[in-house]
Amino acid sequence: MPDSSETYNPVNAKRTILVVDDEMINREILCQILKDKYEVIQAADGTAALDIITDRCDDLSLVLLDLLMPGVSGLELLKRIRNTKEFRQIPIIVMTSDSESEVDCLRMGAADFISKPYPQPEVILARVERTVELYEDRKLISSTEKDNLTGLYNREYFFRYAEEHDKHHKKLSMDAILLNINHFHVINERHGKEYGNLVLCCVADNIRKVLLRGSRGLACRTEADTFLIYCRHGQYDMELLDKLSGGLPEDSEVAGNRLRLRMGVYSDVDKTMDIERRFDRAKIAADQGRNTYEQTISYYDTKLHASHLYAEQLLEDFQEALKQGQFQVYYQPKYDIRPETPVLASAEALIRWKHPKLGMISPGVFIPLLEDNGLIQQLDRYVWREAAAQVRRWKEKFGVTVPVSVNVSRIDMHDPDLIHIFKTIIEENGLSTTEYHLEITESAYTDNSIGIIDTVKQLRVFGFSVEMDDFGSGYSSLNMLSTLPIDALKLDMKFIRTAFTGRKDTHMIELIIDIAAYLKVPVIAEGVETEEQLTTLKKLGCDYVQGYYFSRPVPPEEFESFITAGR
Ligand code: C2E
Ligand code: CA
Ligand code: CA
Repeated sequence: MPDSSETYNPVNAKRTILVVDDEMINREILCQILKDKYEVIQAADGTAALDIITDRCDDLSLVLLDLLMPGVSGLELLKRIRNTKEFRQIPIIVMTSDSESEVDCLRMGAADFISKPYPQPEVILARVERTVELYEDRKLISSTEKDNLTGLYNREYFFRYAEEHDKHHKKLSMDAILLNINHFHVINERHGKEYGNLVLCCVADNIRKVLLRGSRGLACRTEADTFLIYCRHGQYDMELLDKLSGGLPEDSEVAGNRLRLRMGVYSDVDKTMDIERRFDRAKIAADQGRNTYEQTISYYDTKLHASHLYAEQLLEDFQEALKQGQFQVYYQPKYDIRPETPVLASAEALIRWKHPKLGMISPGVFIPLLEDNGLIQQLDRYVWREAAAQVRRWKEKFGVTVPVSVNVSRIDMHDPDLIHIFKTIIEENGLSTTEYHLEITESAYTDNSIGIIDTVKQLRVFGFSVEMDDFGSGYSSLNMLSTLPIDALKLDMKFIRTAFTGRKDTHMIELIIDIAAYLKVPVIAEGVETEEQLTTLKKLGCDYVQGYYFSRPVPPEEFESFITAGR
């Protein structure tokens, strides 16, 4: 984004004024009056003036223009300046002895009028100062209407104008659209910010061409790569999305990869609803396509509306549920399958929400919701504490440790207090770091790898065992893997699913087991449901197994039977 100092003179620098008059004596008089305060450039005729204006339109603060000149007259010049987009913001004060033309000039957009013969120098200076200030203020206001980078409106003005638009077109049916570039941060990281900016400008241009053409609506950019569009009700298809994502420079690396947009449409909006809420709906629709690499168009429909209401209800109930103990930690055993008979090795803590009205809710539903709304950390802390207390209770009751692993959300990894929190939790329960494991999903590493790898390293320095969860679902590079600080790989469940359905193919599993061997860490397979899966995994060299074959996640009382069975 251009620095504002590029567009505006720094406060202390002298502003530049162009004096256009065919008589040298007039130019000199004005120059004398203004030179202490301003940088004055002179032009003796309209043609020379136009050249200067073209050259310096960005840093001219004012034009003082003689109306009567041979060649291009002052009036003509005034017209040209007003009709050229780039010049339009430069204020012009017209000078003439003909008081008749005053009104004409003002009508044509002159900012002010100085009569000839010249009034007192102080009067001239005061008028010049006033005009310059007035226009700078105006420029400042109009520049904040727009996003500097793309020239689209900014969010605030966009909403204001959208409301204004509705007032004048009450009957017109409108659509609220949110457009987002999938994985834009990757483009920024891989190709640099400058290239990222180019991409954003390209999308903005496409929006203007494809959606706003013929003043069919307005658009703004909010947050780096999100665009909001308010336009006349219409139909959207993939072809349109292709047009919106096309037009990147031919030679660009991203062009090969193609830009992928996701579009959320709240169609034929309810105009009684607050304008911002209409775009919340467009966002909810767009979020449907969040986890894909493909282009998507999603509509806000009744189904989405219902699930939106459901989500709202869960969020509303969350704090109370936490207080009332509606959240319960379940435990699923992990078995060591290397010995002849599998041996209970540890457990994973998995949260359950027993909602008094909605019944048992799956974490697959509420975890992403809490993540999006910044509440997951509260829940995770509760689970972490509860799980540690459980390890201690079992230790006291059975005299053995069943290490429990807890899930650490991506957001937790950015918490500077994280290590301190875990240390406190295990200290409070008299545990050692070997009795408490952490599961961190692979995609967290690929997100902001450097910061996260650092945190993981520190956790391991304290002795915590870190398991990389859902391995194979993220996009770790081999390079990153080899320097990765981890203690175990948890094979993503989908590999088990695909390896044992249809044409049985265990190649991916073998590959991952090879990677683990190379990293010298054990492999844990989760989602193992059948005897066949178990024996195959064992043959392939998998070390631990977790899954319905042994047990579903169960409440702690029920889990105790696995502990006693192993004794
Ligand atoms: P995850 O960490 O990958 O957990 C494994 C999920 O697989 C669990 O689902 C578990 O019940 C399920 N599972 C285990 N064995 C089998 C099997 O044999 N077949 C099938 N079909 N599924 C099996 P669950 O409990 O529904 O949890 C879903 C996800 O929610 C978890 O995936 C985890 O990402 C998240 N989650 C659960 N508890 C917590 C928590 O306390 N904190 C955080 N941050 N996330 C949690
Ligand atoms: Ca897990
Ligand atoms: Ca997992």
